[in-house]
Amino acid sequence: MTDESIQWDFVVIGGGASGLGSAIDAVSRGFKTLLLESHDFCKGTSSRSTKLIHGGVRYMAQGYIDLVKEALKERGLLSHNAAHLVKTQDFVIPNYTLWNSFLYAAGLTFYDFLSGKLSLGKTRLIGKKKTLKELPNIKAEGLRSGVVYTDGQFDDSRLGINMAQTIDDLGGCAINYMEADGFIKNEQGKIIGVEATDKISGKKYTIHCKVVINATGVFANEILNEDNPHHGKFIVPSQGIHIVLNKSFLLSDNAVMIPKTSDGRVLFIVPWHDKCLVGTTDTLVEEPNYEPRALEKEIEFVMESAQMYLNKKPTRKDVLSVFAGLRPLAAPKQAGKSTKEVSRSHKVVAHESGMLTLTGGKWTSYRKMAKDVIDKAIEVHELTKAECRTHRLSIHGNIPKKEVDRSSHLYVYGSDIPQIKEIQQEKPEYAAKIHSNYGYTFAEVIWAIREEMALTVEDILARRVRLLFLDAQAAIDCAPKIASVVAQEIGKDKKWEESQVDEFTKLARNYLLG
Ligand SMILES: Cc1cc2nc3c(=O)[nH]c(=O)nc-3n(C[C@H](O)[C@H](O)[C@H](O)COP(=O)(O)OP(=O)(O)OC[C@H]3O[C@@H](n4cnc5c(N)ncnc54)[C@H](O)[C@@H]3O)c2cc1C
Repeated sequence: MTDESIQWDFVVIGGGASGLGSAIDAVSRGFKTLLLESHDFCKGTSSRSTKLIHGGVRYMAQGYIDLVKEALKERGLLSHNAAHLVKTQDFVIPNYTLWNSFLYAAGLTFYDFLSGKLSLGKTRLIGKKKTLKELPNIKAEGLRSGVVYTDGQFDDSRLGINMAQTIDDLGGCAINYMEADGFIKNEQGKIIGVEATDKISGKKYTIHCKVVINATGVFANEILNEDNPHHGKFIVPSQGIHIVLNKSFLLSDNAVMIPKTSDGRVLFIVPWHDKCLVGTTDTLVEEPNYEPRALEKEIEFVMESAQMYLNKKPTRKDVLSVFAGLRPLAAPKQAGKSTKEVSRSHKVVAHESGMLTLTGGKWTSYRKMAKDVIDKAIEVHELTKAECRTHRLSIHGNIPKKEVDRSSHLYVYGSDIPQIKEIQQEKPEYAAKIHSNYGYTFAEVIWAIREEMALTVEDILARRVRLLFLDAQAAIDCAPKIASVVAQEIGKDKKWEESQVDEFTKLARNYLLG
């Protein structure tokens, strides 16, 4: 990349699900591809999801059948292409009226039918007794039945990191901490390159390419206005929050789905890395932010909804972490539409300058979204035709489903596990745990630095080992040790170490509920 004489076919701006997916699609078709991420991979929305690989039951209820069918197909493909990260998850809907028993059993049977051969498991209606066995902590009063259905569950930023590695494995180049901050245009106003700044060294680069893909999620407006100052707003950010609790509040390996909370939204309680996530909300926000904060009314809403359905009721002091993410929804054409009504389908837009923007959609559908934007780019730029090859393309780390051993927390590393175990043997301190309550060892930290492009304490604790999202206080507690190991591994001094701890602690405090 440092060689500015390279002529790239594609420069993809943005290292979240959409950008990483687009770069994999382009490079696997044989195009010379460079991805630029201004922060760390998945720093934005792509590390802050509900961690579901799903068709979207709510979208089905809203009548978006094609969208659900497409996502269910993608769910099936991804559970094969990234089997180490996507697991089959049973969900139970507790029903408190007979009508709901019938409605959700019929609806979820149709949901399963839409997945065709890629079904992950059959929907079934179970009685009250069985429902309480499956969900021992669910409110028993008034309970009539349960509907069990199956969807996919994953680790979002770990998939993103593996996707960045896939780009490199395929001969492309994915760089973090490299911000796209300008365009080079020819006399006809067409983009022929990108200006970028290395945010670590401050060095500026001029990069030449045939096509630029803008995959910057909620930050897309900035890039669009950089291209054309009259562009205006294209994205509406809608915030969703999650709280993380001990699994004792779920007492089950099943997830709970409440189809209609008091504000009409779906509420999920999902087991994740031995904790459970509860969410989410849908709150329109004015401006995007790299560290969006959960609003008090959102926290109250999620807490109250959880308390309403759980016997052992969580309180604020039980919250181990709270995080917020911003949905990059395509702006509605009709003014006044609520964010719940704005289409969740993705959009591909080809601009006058030749740049293409990919936005909206969801994690689950990233492969199809990427295919659509690269197909469009080939058409608009009259590039040599090459078919999409990602249908059965393994993501870095993929191993056959039956070989995935979830009894060890290392399972998320898939085919890389033996190399992490080798690092544990390198030095006794690398086999030590980073925190006494968690299984993560310093070997994963070393691996993250050597092989996963992690550069800071935050990169490691937020998006490689996920401790910030699981238990923010534990993450704060082990930050000094992590900083010291990183400093040794990459040759940084004490001052750097201290500033890393300060920066991380400041950021992580926002994940604690006061
Ligand atoms: C609360 C919530 C729950 C969700 N749950 C699910 C779920 O369970 N399942 C599901 O399938 N989907 C879910 N989604 C949707 C999904 O998470 C998003 O659709 C997806 O992550 C968006 O990815 P993205 O790449 O478009 O955006 P982002 O992940 O935000 O990536 C954009 C990237 O662009 C980078 N960038 C910005 N400007 C520049 C620049 N100038 N130069 C270089 N890089 C730049 C940013 O740093 C960022 O990393 C959820 C979303 C939210 C908010």
